[in-house]
Amino acid sequence: MKNCKSLIFEISKPGRLALDLPPCDVPDCAIDSLIPSQFLRNSPAELPEVSQLDLMRHYTKLSNRNFGVDSGFYPLGSCTMKYNPKVNEDIAQYAGFAEIHPLQDAKTVQGALELLYNTEQYLTEIAGMDAVTMQPVAGSHGELTGLKIIRAYHRAKGEARTKVIVPDSAHGTNPASATVCGLETVEIKSNEDGSINLDILRGVVGEDTAALMLTNPSTLGLFENQIEEIAKIVHDAGGLLYYDGANTNAIMGIVRPGDMGFDVVHFNLHKTFSTPHGGGGPGAGPIGVKKELIPFLPIPVVTFDGNQFGLDENRPQSIGKIHSFYGNFGIIVRAYAYIRSMGPDGLRQVSEDAVLNANYCLSQLKEVYYAPFDRFCMHECVVTAKKQKPYGIKTLDIAKRLLDYGYHPPTIYFPMIVEEAMMIEPTETESKETLDQFIDAMKAIAQEATMNPEIILNAPQHMAVRRLDETAAARKPIVKWKV
Ligand SMILES: *Cc1c(COP(=O)(O)O)cnc(C)c1O
Repeated sequence: MKNCKSLIFEISKPGRLALDLPPCDVPDCAIDSLIPSQFLRNSPAELPEVSQLDLMRHYTKLSNRNFGVDSGFYPLGSCTMKYNPKVNEDIAQYAGFAEIHPLQDAKTVQGALELLYNTEQYLTEIAGMDAVTMQPVAGSHGELTGLKIIRAYHRAKGEARTKVIVPDSAHGTNPASATVCGLETVEIKSNEDGSINLDILRGVVGEDTAALMLTNPSTLGLFENQIEEIAKIVHDAGGLLYYDGANTNAIMGIVRPGDMGFDVVHFNLHKTFSTPHGGGGPGAGPIGVKKELIPFLPIPVVTFDGNQFGLDENRPQSIGKIHSFYGNFGIIVRAYAYIRSMGPDGLRQVSEDAVLNANYCLSQLKEVYYAPFDRFCMHECVVTAKKQKPYGIKTLDIAKRLLDYGYHPPTIYFPMIVEEAMMIEPTETESKETLDQFIDAMKAIAQEATMNPEIILNAPQHMAVRRLDETAAARKPIVKWKV
């Protein structure tokens, strides 16, 4: 840890160099004459002066402080922090993918367009939809795009529908996307068992209903069994159904949103389809739509006439552009590599294993933690600190103690409708041994809560920093080095 606490500027020594090459024998090509003088700096940039070895050690130490799925188990519910196979990276680095330019003529990038076209076809099939656009670059961006399409569809029919129904168990991005789209959110309360209350739903649908946004399985990790009835209620009222498919890893090859009655679905390639995520991206949130909505898809649309691939911009009913060019191409390449390497049976196995792993964790953890929904879960499970509360231990304390045991904590205090929630998503890529070690750590913490709560309240002890003021970190972050 020594030295690790210093900023690189603090280990700087005047005159020290990371690279010391002989003087260049190519004549100085008069930079001054190429760049107008007002754009040239008068004094050298204030950069730290360190040797190459110190530089290397500094950043290697910093990188070791980071927690990633390559360094340990990362059960962050709803975020699907599964392992991303490295073959995806190899494929994305092929010159034919990495070194093309989005302004190249379509004739010169037929392979890239074919890859986009095929990935659209795969996702269309996986979700049971009629078409897919790869353009949105995050799950929430997919939500916004989907809602814009839904609004355009209603408008084209001469209907001014402005309300989006969202259950209280929904991911926070759902109501946020509705608001950004200029629509109004109507929240509906879930039943005790986490399912949709059909009477409440019937009471709120009407001629102003634009859509119902639903996640199935819900953010409680539970499958909504009444989905066909729900779809009928919304469709009979003239509304559409939006599927939040961020965590499609629960259902691939088993059930399809399109068959459940959904009209729009978004995927998170950076969750289900093993492309890197965290730190704000880049990601990809493609959406799938049913036939009636195809005219409203964003431009350009990838086309194939049986011979040539192309990009169609001439679509009068389109909602227009939602991203430059064609989304995060490099991410789509990785997802394509993943889908191809898995194949249809492999993708089904992914979902079966994701659900099996989550149920294994739930079955073990409910011995010592309170399980608010004691039924089979899907890709993630929810337990709480209810049994630890009498000892003064909250969910936040357990999360901090897990850091000392070497684990990234699960998602906590979400879903918000469950008190002291811990949402655990083990993902299908973890072995039984890893799950058992994590379960042992969770059980050890539950034991500590009864015997030695102080050790949990003072956690973490073994991290570079102790407990942070999280409010100040979010509201007043200091992200710049000052002299
Ligand atoms: C992650 C997630 C989203 C949002 O995806 P981003 O790519 O972070 O915008 C939406 N819904 C659910 C259920 C999610 O898990």
